[in-house]
Amino acid sequence: MDRFICPHCKRFYPIDRRRWRCDCGSGLDLCFESRFPIGEILKRGPTLWRYREAIPILSDESILSMGEGFTPLERMELAGHRVFLKIDYLFPTGSYKDRGATVLVSKLRELGIRKVIEDSSGNAGSAIAAYCVRAGVECELYVPASTSPGKLAQIEAYGAILRKVEGSREKTAEMARKAASKIYYASHCWNPFFLHGTKTFAFEIWEQMGWKAPDTVVIPVGHGTLLLGAYIGFKELKEAGMVKRIPRIIAVQSAACAPIYRAFRKGWRETFPAEKGETVAEGIAIANPVRARQILEAIRETGGEVLTVTEREIKVAMKEMGRRGHFIEPTSAATIAGLKKYLDQRKKEETVVSTLTGMGLKFIK
Ligand SMILES: *Cc1c(COP(=O)(O)O)cnc(C)c1O
Ligand SMILES: [Zn+2]
Repeated sequence: MDRFICPHCKRFYPIDRRRWRCDCGSGLDLCFESRFPIGEILKRGPTLWRYREAIPILSDESILSMGEGFTPLERMELAGHRVFLKIDYLFPTGSYKDRGATVLVSKLRELGIRKVIEDSSGNAGSAIAAYCVRAGVECELYVPASTSPGKLAQIEAYGAILRKVEGSREKTAEMARKAASKIYYASHCWNPFFLHGTKTFAFEIWEQMGWKAPDTVVIPVGHGTLLLGAYIGFKELKEAGMVKRIPRIIAVQSAACAPIYRAFRKGWRETFPAEKGETVAEGIAIANPVRARQILEAIRETGGEVLTVTEREIKVAMKEMGRRGHFIEPTSAATIAGLKKYLDQRKKEETVVSTLTGMGLKFIK
């Protein structure tokens, strides 16, 4: 039977619908053994569920899929280097967050949960709302009252109940956490089932590169749902003997809000709440990431690093991607700005994979 494990104090807990973090305050992970039967994988359709034996859902009947995943891995010349980009804005709700939502909401069905809460004003909220409505699960979303109406339109279209909170993003999260003592907390940052969906990012890259891991992956980081997913995914592949090592993880933050960057540079194991300046990359402007300790460990363990990008660099990258036929949102463009910086400074030939995380149409002002 699967269990929760605390990556920090190593305590175990049964999978319980009320528990969303460890008594020590840390986020929880799952004890789950993944298998990768390549012959079976190859017989299945082009969705992330082709890695069925690596996804912690017990019965096939619980699966709620909208055909998500197995996105293209595009080869591209950038800043004079060859790179590969995972086109992860090609998901039902327009961002890679559907990787996490399909697994998390499938788990809700398995647990018989009929109502959840989540806090997000952006892509995670949209993804959870869309999959919940398909599953017939009631979804209550806490958002800052200041969230622009345009961003709420998609969430509203999926019929989620909106709870607008006066105050900051942090205050909104606090309100959701209070409510989470009674209602299941389907949080993309706390709930480990979300990470066991985003980890399929690693599996797809592994398959698309001919069952090999790249040397380096360049990934945006706010709360780290993609970064930790990629880390867990490659780690599982390594533990199963499918790849030799986990790629170096290069994290990208906006210079306007960069708590992970600061902690990494200073050698800290934790972050301290960062100041939040104005940035177009609002999707990764997270002052106090709840899984900071795990994020820092993953970057350090893989020999990675953290880069920051300026507002100007983000805008240039966004325009450049548009000219290559990829209309992405600013948060997604921050990754490309970071990727270019990384390519400029790297010394030797290596295989680098990065990603386009979010569709541009979401952020028309
Ligand atoms: C969520 C998101 C990210 C990464 O954010 P995390 O908080 O680290 O999970 C990056 N780009 C887009 C478009 C996103 O929606
Ligand atoms: Zn703990």
